[in-house]
Amino acid sequence: MAKKEFKAESKRLLEMMINSIYTHREIFLRELISNASDAIDKIYYKALTDENLVFNKEDYYIKVSADKANRTLTITDSGIGMTQEELENNLGVIAKSGSLAFKGENEAKDGHNIIGQFGVGFYSAFMVADMVTVTTKALGSDQAFKWESTGTDGYTIEPCEKDSVGTEIVLKIKANTEEDQYDECLEEYRLKAIIKKYSDFIRYPIKMDIKGQRPKEDAENEFEEYVEEQTVNSMVPIWRKNKDELTDEDYNNFYAEKRYGFDKPLKHIHIKADGAVVYNAILFIPENTPFDYYTKEFEKGLELYSNGVLIMEKCGDLIPDYFSFVKGMVDSEDLSLNISREMLQHDRQLTMIAKNIKNKIKSALQSMLKDEREKYEKFYSAFGRQLKFGVYNDYGTHKDVLQDLLMFYSSTEKKLVTLDEYVSRMPEDQKYIYYAAGESTQRIEKLPQTEMVADKGYEILYFTDDVDEFAIKMLMTYKEKEFKSVSSGDLGIEPDAEDKPSEAEEGENKELFESMSSILAGRVKSVRASKRLKSHPVCLTAEGELTIEMEKILKAMPNGQDVKADKVLEININHDVFKSLKEAYKGDQEKLALYTNLLYNQALLIEGLTISDPVEFTNDICKIMV
Ligand code: ADP
Repeated sequence: MAKKEFKAESKRLLEMMINSIYTHREIFLRELISNASDAIDKIYYKALTDENLVFNKEDYYIKVSADKANRTLTITDSGIGMTQEELENNLGVIAKSGSLAFKGENEAKDGHNIIGQFGVGFYSAFMVADMVTVTTKALGSDQAFKWESTGTDGYTIEPCEKDSVGTEIVLKIKANTEEDQYDECLEEYRLKAIIKKYSDFIRYPIKMDIKGQRPKEDAENEFEEYVEEQTVNSMVPIWRKNKDELTDEDYNNFYAEKRYGFDKPLKHIHIKADGAVVYNAILFIPENTPFDYYTKEFEKGLELYSNGVLIMEKCGDLIPDYFSFVKGMVDSEDLSLNISREMLQHDRQLTMIAKNIKNKIKSALQSMLKDEREKYEKFYSAFGRQLKFGVYNDYGTHKDVLQDLLMFYSSTEKKLVTLDEYVSRMPEDQKYIYYAAGESTQRIEKLPQTEMVADKGYEILYFTDDVDEFAIKMLMTYKEKEFKSVSSGDLGIEPDAEDKPSEAEEGENKELFESMSSILAGRVKSVRASKRLKSHPVCLTAEGELTIEMEKILKAMPNGQDVKADKVLEININHDVFKSLKEAYKGDQEKLALYTNLLYNQALLIEGLTISDPVEFTNDICKIMV
């Protein structure tokens, strides 16, 4: 029979995994047991809607047995099994189309991360086995099939005999090497310990034949060996246990076993509610942003159990979008088992649970911010953007929930600060919360527009995320203080007396600016004396709602409209350049046009905008050099 090749990506991944030094090799067992448990769950779900199928919990089990003599480890389950087609699709391909491509070079080198991201559960078997044989019979099918593979070079599938529905996976354990004692995987005590560690809360019994010794009945002082099938896992779900019985490690193991993520959670929230609505929940705040988090593919939701039985894998109604990064589960006795998705949406109990959960998450984040700042900053770098989207979305409806969780980089503190911290430090004469938007803190640091505000000693918040300005427009105020862009028309700061031009000067300047405006007609709305520049000669600002930074962001969007901010060219009248402008205005119109264009283009560059005719710009520079 011809061997089938693994799909190319699978092959690469597989090699990477087999060769990577996987520190937790033992997790292969967790992966196979979770698959077995999922396979039993699938029968259970089916039974919910299929009258002809009865689910007797007693009939379902997972069995782990080791045969030292033959060096095999067998994992058997009475789950739903796989058809030939499913065998092909599930075990022939690892990463679904192109999903490897998104990973950066560095991460791709580290097999670890890849395994993590995709949870290539089944394939982890090859970390300990030379050959894997899967014999399986699908529910409702008469024919069983055997899948076999020695690793990277492909696999075979053929029909075979199997009495009962379910799957049997036989691992031919690798021979020991100098560094690696693969024998471990055949030791009863090791297997038992691994199962306890990772799979203790699996809802179905994980059985093993455990050897024991007992006194012989008819002979004194003599012992006999016997074998007894025992259930190794405790099956009591962690959420039913008391919080004080549980350690951080227990929660972390649960997180890993449930495959909520492949990182370690930053925080867990264990809720035991017995008020108006009775439920248990364990929620996690992950450490890392899932790779698909900010894409359309990402689906939020918590696992929903009714009285210990999983009824929905991703119940989106349980958490608001702005907390969509939260993973975990909810178990309530008050929910009916075969409730449909549509009905759940209108379920009063569920609505109450969701509200409760939202508040718990918020206070967990708030206390993290208060007591574990570093941790919170880690969280914020992974999910802060989502909170800001939360402020913006739904016309700002959720801003009260979220505003105290926001952080921005501060010009004076040189780190992330909260709005509350900002406002509490504001000097009495400061009217506004100032911010500057740009690509990065480094770039903003150099923006001419920040000069006056910074010079006054006022703190400026740096907006480097695309969503920042939009979110703040929704927020409008914080503790009754209005937000103000350093580029906005009126900064609310009076310039020092000596910087102020006299009335006569102002009149003179006005004509010059009008002349410059007409040179730049169609490109800027007006040219005026700047109230924000101190040492820089020129900058661009915007009038009205749309700022230059917003214009850039909207333009960069996939189907971005070509919206334009109303730009104003601001000139520093205390700068020597202004003298040259005045002279040119008096005597040389051509020179005035040259200078005006140059200054305008410089201002564009400072803003990170493109110059429409770079060649002309460089020619202009040459003109002033010769
Ligand atoms: P994952 O479990 O993350 O989907 P795996 O590589 O572990 O990835 O498994 C791939 C698929 O193979 C599973 O989604 C499931 O459909 C099928 N599968 C694996 N093990 C079993 C099993 N014991 N019984 C039935 N189906 C299984």
